[in-house]
Order: sequence, then structure tokens, then C-alpha cells
Amino acid sequence: MNRKQHSGEVGYVAERMNPFMPGKKVVIYIAEEQGMDVDGCKYAVVCDAHSTIVGTMSLPDARGFMKYPEFCETCMKEIS
Ligand SMILES: [Zn+2]
Repeated sequence: MNRKQHSGEVGYVAERMNPFMPGKKVVIYIAEEQGMDVDGCKYAVVCDAHSTIVGTMSLPDARGFMKYPEFCETCMKEIS
């Protein structure tokens, strides 16, 4: 099981357990600091389990994705 902590990483904002993938996390980064290109969006939200990424300009939106990673198709398949 991956229990890696992300809090020391460049551009780290927040992380939370993935509600669909026990033991995995969903992490928010400041995209530019992390070197991610998400169509110019300020924040990148990453599904740790599947390496899927979504970009948003809004931190509240990013936190919403962190709590419920609907951007990750593989996670969505887990609950369908
Ligand atoms: Zn996922």
C-alpha cells in the first residue's frame, strides 16, 4: 500500500484520502511550482492512485475535487 506523504513536495497545497481508493490520496498542487501544465490553471489536483490530473483556477473547486475526484475516470468506475 502506498503511504507516501506529499506534504514536503514543491507546490504542495493539501491532500486527503481518496474516498474511492483506500490507502491512496488526492493531492492539490500549485501547478506552476510543481512544473505541471494544466492548461494554464493555477491549481492541479492529482489522483495518486491513477496519476490523473485536473486543473482549476479556484481553490474551493480544487478542494471539491480532492474530496470527490470525479475527474478521474478510473475512480468513477470503482463506484459504478
Ligand atoms: Zn483515480
